[in-house]
Amino acid sequence: MQFIDLKAQQARIRGRVDAAIARVLDHGGYIMGPEVKELETRLAAYAGVGHAVSCASGTDALLMALMVKGIGPGDAVLVPTFTFAATAEVVALLGATPVFVDILADTYNMDPGGLAAAVAEARRLGLAPRGVIPVDLFGQPADYAAIHAAAAREGLFVIADAAQSFGATLDGRRVGTLAEITATSFFPAKPLGCYGDGGAVFTDSDEIAETLRSIRVHGKGGHKYDNVRVGLNARLDTLQAAVLLEKLAIFPDEVERRDAVARRYAEGLAGLATPVVMAGATSVWAQYTIRFDDRDAMAAGLKDAGIPTAVYYPLPLHRQTAFASHPTAPGGLPRAEAAAGQVLSLPMHPYLETAEQDTVIAATRRVADRLAKGTPSA
Ligand SMILES: *Cc1c(COP(=O)(O)O)cnc(C)c1O
Repeated sequence: MQFIDLKAQQARIRGRVDAAIARVLDHGGYIMGPEVKELETRLAAYAGVGHAVSCASGTDALLMALMVKGIGPGDAVLVPTFTFAATAEVVALLGATPVFVDILADTYNMDPGGLAAAVAEARRLGLAPRGVIPVDLFGQPADYAAIHAAAAREGLFVIADAAQSFGATLDGRRVGTLAEITATSFFPAKPLGCYGDGGAVFTDSDEIAETLRSIRVHGKGGHKYDNVRVGLNARLDTLQAAVLLEKLAIFPDEVERRDAVARRYAEGLAGLATPVVMAGATSVWAQYTIRFDDRDAMAAGLKDAGIPTAVYYPLPLHRQTAFASHPTAPGGLPRAEAAAGQVLSLPMHPYLETAEQDTVIAATRRVADRLAKGTPSA
């Protein structure tokens, strides 16, 4: 059994991907070839947003978004502590300071109620609070209504880290439209992934899109050799765009399949701590994450039954070596710390077969019963 089965997906589209790659080899436009423009048009149409600017990774997407905002030393950017390192890394890379905020206990997304205290802490440290990067963890959007309200009160911009949530919706609007700037990732294991690294930034603003396109290519201006700002080499390869076009064609179907898998898990695991999706939201189920007091025993029990699992994330960022010196909101980040000790992600992908899923459900229930009875082993 695979935790994420990329081979099953490949078998479905292999012929079309081979043909798409052959077309790129034939035309030879490896950098910013026609597939890149076509992909951007299709991504923007799918998300219902004015612009999709493709780039080399989700990390570059976040970095470019912060560069648009001119973030630098002395600035503070609020990030949830329960996320992948890239969310905070890009802030630190620009010389600014990430300030860590706790999560909500049910959705694992950033607690909008924690923003005011984090802003006050940043000011107390002599930093200028500039923005907030909510993360759509495990595939469902953060609580953008509450985050926008709190951000507006504090004068903060909002950049969405949608690396795990492309395709999800909130109150009928797609990810990509839920913040002024949205960053996503096409890392192979994300819900929409390529065969290498890739990412995209979404915005409705013509001006922001233009700046992103400049930053993506060394800060180019109107003239190729008059760069108007310091930028990056952050282009998406044409080959990856060609792969993504084929994957995007089946993506709506895959999102439905993911949701069907999640619904079956919810039924089969009823009574255990299954994921909570916020009212008004849909998830693309980048992960199907349950929680147990004795998570490690559950993971070991499932491993014995031949079922792969993963822990996202065993350490909140404020506990990681590279980030431990950065500030946190006062009072600690107890919900993130509790989650880090209890979360466990089960196999989740659009091609998980019913029989496989039944095996996962039965084994999870069996181990949960055993743990509840306090029996040390099967
Ligand atoms: C994967 C991920 C990223 C980084 O994306 P890459 O394409 O790997 O650079 C950023 N934030 C979150 C929450 C992620 O899951």
